[in-house]
Amino acid sequence: MSYSIISNGRGRDYWMESSTFSNGAITNELDWQDDALCAQTDLEAFFPEKGGSTAAAKRICAKCEVKPECLAYALAHDERFGIYGGLSPSERRKLRRRS
Ligand code: SF4
Repeated sequence: MSYSIISNGRGRDYWMESSTFSNGAITNELDWQDDALCAQTDLEAFFPEKGGSTAAAKRICAKCEVKPECLAYALAHDERFGIYGGLSPSERRKLRRRS
């Protein structure tokens, strides 16, 4: 397993986790990020100022085909900032408490 950070230059850094198998094949456990709709948009909407609107980011998430994978990632990595999988940090905390 290897880890590295790739910055998209607009605020969100992606952790890239990859595994190398004995046959030399490399799989990226975050391949879903290739289809992240937010990567094609203004990422600032996903990190609003305190009290700022999350509506624009959530509208994008609603159309994103990797929303389940994104939310699972945020929950697994305890992401404390930003909109992931259509949920704000406080909404993710509530979801975590319910499960
Ligand atoms: S669900 Fe939202 S935050 Fe997650 S990858 Fe898609 S657009 Fe980005």
